[in-house]
Amino acid sequence: MSIDFFSDYTMTINGRAASSDKCFDAFNPATEAAIAKVPDASRDQLEETVATAKAAFPAWSTRPLSERQALVARIGDAIETHSDDFMRLLTLEQGKARAGAEWEIGGSVIWCREIAKQELPVHLAEQTEARTVEIRRVPLGVVGGITPWNFPVLLAIWKIAPALVAGNTMVLKPSPWTPLCTLKLGELLRDVLPAGVLNVVSGGNDLGAWLTQHPEVRKISFTGSTATGRKIMESASGNLKRITLELGGNDPAIVLPDVDVEKTAKKLFWAAFQNSAQFCVAAKRLYIHEDIYDELSQALVAYAATVKVGDGSEQGTDLGPIQNAVQFEKLKALLGDARASGLRFLAGGEIPEGRGYFVPVTIIDNPPENARVVTEEAFGPVLPLLKFSDIDDVVARANRTEYGLAASVWGKDIGKARSIAERIEAGTVWINEIHSFSPHVAFGGHKQSGIGIENALEGLAEYTNSQTIVTNHAE
Ligand code: NAD
Repeated sequence: MSIDFFSDYTMTINGRAASSDKCFDAFNPATEAAIAKVPDASRDQLEETVATAKAAFPAWSTRPLSERQALVARIGDAIETHSDDFMRLLTLEQGKARAGAEWEIGGSVIWCREIAKQELPVHLAEQTEARTVEIRRVPLGVVGGITPWNFPVLLAIWKIAPALVAGNTMVLKPSPWTPLCTLKLGELLRDVLPAGVLNVVSGGNDLGAWLTQHPEVRKISFTGSTATGRKIMESASGNLKRITLELGGNDPAIVLPDVDVEKTAKKLFWAAFQNSAQFCVAAKRLYIHEDIYDELSQALVAYAATVKVGDGSEQGTDLGPIQNAVQFEKLKALLGDARASGLRFLAGGEIPEGRGYFVPVTIIDNPPENARVVTEEAFGPVLPLLKFSDIDDVVARANRTEYGLAASVWGKDIGKARSIAERIEAGTVWINEIHSFSPHVAFGGHKQSGIGIENALEGLAEYTNSQTIVTNHAE
């Protein structure tokens, strides 16, 4: 199918293009230029979309699993066929550099293919002459998917693939900051999926709220901030919707004194700054043992000087801009607070003049534990380095947060690193690596970083209800 990825953005409702009376602009964060008009769905359109998804559910949910799996794998094929357009559009609307776009679009293809291989087995709890007790998983109905602006394609696929394999239909709402790739994905899939199975609607935060309140929507799968997650939990209570919430994080990285400083510095740099640190699982607080603090902080600063921040579409750019004006203002305020508090900048800290939401790689020298740059999720390239000497103390400091998304521990003594990992209150703890994700590995937050799991069979199961069938053989 031939699609122009760079103009004419429409929603997908019941397998057809839909525009809206109202529109909003999408921007290129590297230039601040408006790049597209985006339909702003009305409440009536949302009603129509949910009705469409509901109407498509009986046929989709009773289609053999193998056919649903094959169609989800074909979503991956369709993305792969158009991967260059997706990458260019992703850079244009999100800002990320080419390597990041390749990672995200390549990952989306892999996720479709791998989730398409998953199947939830029927569990035979009892099989005797008298009776059979089977526990099987059945789809829920219409699922609402709501995604953020940092990885708009991959995080949408994390929802679409399992929801559809499990037999649900979906209404997907991308972030108003990054709707373009998702709208084009909907357009591309009009030829792949039966009408109504995947609907894509665009609009502001209100549209998300209407979706989460809707009585015909049986589940919300949400990725975004903890503040919005709380609102969704509240509004989902109306019809006791199932919810999966993947929320914010303030991930600690603990660096033990026996690491190879040079090698680890580079890994830690990317652990913190990948995607311009607009990454839920970025290392956001770096706890460094006092014995290597000076050496490692110097190595980080030296490495930072080799990294180019710029327009993601330009060759040689390593890190793109902040994705949107609101987040840019938040980061400026955070930097202003750090400066006013007298914190010492080892790198960055000054916002350059000119167009584009650019924040330089900023590294802050051992701020107090209660500084805002330590307690808040910056969601941008502002990294505090923190000194520690005692393991019990650093574990307590690492856990002193409402979040519990992920963490990492770095050290040659694996036994010691492992014993620290076990004490961290987080859904994922990496040892001597970071950000290795897989469609077959469960991912989810502890504490206020979320509820539920994405990926793996546990993630697939969240798109189903458990149903027990008891058959008495005596009759
Ligand atoms: P956000 O919560 O502002 O928005 C996310 C989505 O929710 C958008 O589509 C938005 O339109 C929608 N929304 C806003 N208000 C709503 C409401 N009342 N009801 C329903 N939907 C509503 O988050 P963001 O700023 O786009 O993303 C950044 C946040 O996402 C960070 O905190 C980050 O850590 C988190 N995040 C978490 C993960 C994870 O897997 N845990 C992954 C990526 C991002």
